[in-house]
Amino acid sequence: MSTVLKNNAFDPSAIVDAVRSVLPESRPLPLHEPEFIGREWEYVKDCIDSGWVSSVGSYVDRFEQLVAEASGTRFGIACVNGTAALHIALIAAGVQRDDEVLVQALTFVASCNAVHHAGAVPHFVDSERETLGLDPDALDAYLGEIAEVRDGVSYNRKTGRRISAVVPMHVFGHPIRMDRLIEVAARWHLVLVEDAAESLGSSRDGQLMGSCGQLAAVSFNGNKTITTGGGGAVVTNDEALAKRLKHLTTTAKLPHRWAFDHDEIGYNYRLPNLNAALGCAQFEMLPQFLSEKRALAERYRAALATVPDVQFFSQPEGCVSNYWLNVVMVPDRAAREALLEALNGDGIQARPCWTPMHELSFNSDCPRASLAVTEELVDRIVNLPSSPKLGRQG
Ligand SMILES: *Cc1c(COP(=O)(O)O)cnc(C)c1O
Repeated sequence: MSTVLKNNAFDPSAIVDAVRSVLPESRPLPLHEPEFIGREWEYVKDCIDSGWVSSVGSYVDRFEQLVAEASGTRFGIACVNGTAALHIALIAAGVQRDDEVLVQALTFVASCNAVHHAGAVPHFVDSERETLGLDPDALDAYLGEIAEVRDGVSYNRKTGRRISAVVPMHVFGHPIRMDRLIEVAARWHLVLVEDAAESLGSSRDGQLMGSCGQLAAVSFNGNKTITTGGGGAVVTNDEALAKRLKHLTTTAKLPHRWAFDHDEIGYNYRLPNLNAALGCAQFEMLPQFLSEKRALAERYRAALATVPDVQFFSQPEGCVSNYWLNVVMVPDRAAREALLEALNGDGIQARPCWTPMHELSFNSDCPRASLAVTEELVDRIVNLPSSPKLGRQG
């Protein structure tokens, strides 16, 4: 990434022309549209006709199998949304009130909200340029400076708090270096909970994202690769954790033919069968959507290859990314604003990256590592329209 901006001479017009050459004429062009071109109507109607529209039903069971399969895990537990999935995953991981949880600063707010919901304190760490996601080497070095292990537990030497987990996020669908993070997490006795909300179908060295940590959360919000309207899931290979998650998300009710008895404070985080029906049909479309999104990414890459002052962000080496949202990088924040202005002015919905977590007012007291790379990336990233149909041939 050695783009140098000379004399503030950034002109977005060549980038806009290249982007337009990839896209259809219709305006406005949303960033990511849900699409229902499979058996969605059939399954949703069947669900309504069956009467089982609420939190129990055969579509929920099938949906849970499908999400596990797509994540390369043994178990899937449907949840009402991805934030709830991440919250309950953290609780199942043993995160307790006043623990610190290491979270990327470069993420959607749900990642750190889930940590707050668990009563824990997000502790922000930096990304790397090659993946956009958590930098495991920087994390290891940072923990060497601020943490110590006592009796198999990591503590922050400055705050005295236990550091119990790390939540990496695969930004816009690009896998982070999980192999290395697994080593770092093991060395520091951290539970690894993946926020795989954006990375359904992405893999590194053949391993699907969502299957690398003890637990992972997936989202099926309307803007994700496939959707249940709103919805999420936790995926895991650990049978005991899977049972515990199902129990916790279904009000901790003890199985009985008629009695209502609960053995702890549970959650109603169940995904309605109606939403699961939509999800089952969407899963049938996933392979097609993934290949269309890859085709679109390839067209953006080719169209932008020779345009100055812009780089299309390609999947990291060894990875197959789902290209959930396509990314280009421009030299700096002023260039980013000029490009956003030009694209949105043309009815092409383009977005900057999220405000990084450490800049949000309610996180101002949270501990953090150096976030220099995060801040650079936020200034430079622009997301382009990424709906599967934009990559469809003919
Ligand atoms: C979408 C998303 C979630 C979950 O969002 P919900 O809207 O609650 O399903 C969590 N983390 C990240 C990084 C996301 O992009």
